[in-house]
Amino acid sequence: MDHTQPKSDAAIAPIRFENSYARLPEHFFARANPTPVAEPWLIKFNRPLAEELGLDADRLERDGAQVFSGNSLPEGAEPLGMAYAGHQFGQFVPLLGDGRAILLGEVIDKNGVRRDIQLKGAGKTPYSRRGDGRAALGPVLREYIVSEAMHALGIPATRALAAVVTGEPVYRERVLPGAVFTRVAASHIRVGTFQFFAARGDNESVKTLADYVIGRHYPQLNGHERPYLALLEAVAGAQAALIARWLCVGFIHGVMNTDNCAVSGETIDFGPCAFLDAYDPAKVFSSIDQGGRYGYASQPAIGQWNLARLAETLLPLLDPEPSEAVNLANDVIAGYGPRFQTHWLTGMKAKIGLIGEEDGDLDLVQGLLTLMKEGQADFTLTFRRLADVAESDAAQDTFAASLGDPAAIAPWLGEWRARLSREAGTPHERVRAMRKVNPAYIPRNHRIEQAIRAAEDDGDFSLFEALLSVLANPYEDQPRFAAYAAPPTPSEEVFRTFCGT
Ligand code: AMP
Ligand code: MG
Repeated sequence: MDHTQPKSDAAIAPIRFENSYARLPEHFFARANPTPVAEPWLIKFNRPLAEELGLDADRLERDGAQVFSGNSLPEGAEPLGMAYAGHQFGQFVPLLGDGRAILLGEVIDKNGVRRDIQLKGAGKTPYSRRGDGRAALGPVLREYIVSEAMHALGIPATRALAAVVTGEPVYRERVLPGAVFTRVAASHIRVGTFQFFAARGDNESVKTLADYVIGRHYPQLNGHERPYLALLEAVAGAQAALIARWLCVGFIHGVMNTDNCAVSGETIDFGPCAFLDAYDPAKVFSSIDQGGRYGYASQPAIGQWNLARLAETLLPLLDPEPSEAVNLANDVIAGYGPRFQTHWLTGMKAKIGLIGEEDGDLDLVQGLLTLMKEGQADFTLTFRRLADVAESDAAQDTFAASLGDPAAIAPWLGEWRARLSREAGTPHERVRAMRKVNPAYIPRNHRIEQAIRAAEDDGDFSLFEALLSVLANPYEDQPRFAAYAAPPTPSEEVFRTFCGT
């Protein structure tokens, strides 16, 4: 062998890890290697994301089945499960942790941002309890579709880098094909991660974690005179903005436990999530959410509840005087409500073409929502069609018909037009702006179900691929895919979504 040869491509790692979580104290995580699987096959590889992350996309496209199944560990990976606790449906569980997810490590992306690369469903960790550490194909496809759709909608979310089938069965209510999902996140630190240490009275670790989160997600707070209060405020702001965005596209997370609430402000853990078809603020899809705790319109309040749980963990860091610490925390928690309301109203006003501010704006938005609820109007289509009405009066009949009783909507349209006449900007600009915030395409529940069925039953991934491609440009009319904009027919309607664990 000629040792003067330059290193072959194969010797350069396809992923340049720069791990930091693994440098934190050992009790922050448990080291755990993925468990190899029988016959991995790469379903999907997100090449643009790989490039954004600075990965060797060619190599990964070729070796993806091995790497993204966990069968082959890329050089520099330091696989670990993160420790966390969490309130699940209001009940505190002091030890959860990554039971079916393994953090391979972190990379610095093309924009200089640190991102986690994690395998979900790659086998047991010390946190698996009685679980098998595996994931079924259906939930993997669902997370792939919905997380990428959220990103394309412009909503902060974890990303999908790859999906593989394992060639092994997983045993749930029935036998299902196993799969591994590769998730990319700004980080996987949750409100529950703080709770893990606080519940053990380990305030030193809460501080270490808070410092880490400030350094990683909120570096502008370095050197702040009250950095931990500022951190709480920053997370409050990120959650308020995020949940407002969810409501503006009809998204229901479905399981907003504190362990599914990322302090980065990204949407995380797409379990029984769903999108509204007909507008109903009380809508709940999740089969495990019997009390409706995480229903569509409950989400802002639950966000505040989760924030209060984060605040509790930070109390000892907020002020040496306990009553003062509580006062400071309460002010932030109280401030979350108005912050959410501002984000939500700005978002909803933009949906009906309003940028300026007038006293009656909230009533105008509420007025439409009331009509939509009464008429069981499709949430997405109503707003998309309203942009058509803003463009041309000829579109009014189609719009009114989708709201049920055309006579009922006429007075609202009159007020809306009068209000638009007092807005700055040309009608053409307004229509463009409305189409940029009112998607034509969302990941409709029935389409996701159809894609999963075809993949599970027939190994047919064409519907999955089609959905991904339509949802990559949700704000553009795509005549070829017009059917994907339609609500479900009565026989297609999905009433329940499942966790899939
Ligand atoms: P999730 O439903 O993803 O929010 O998970 C809640 C908790 O259950 C987390 O600690 C998961 O790691 C754990 N978990 C869920 N499914 C499994 C599984 N199949 N094997 C092991 N742990 C699991
Ligand atoms: Mg979770």
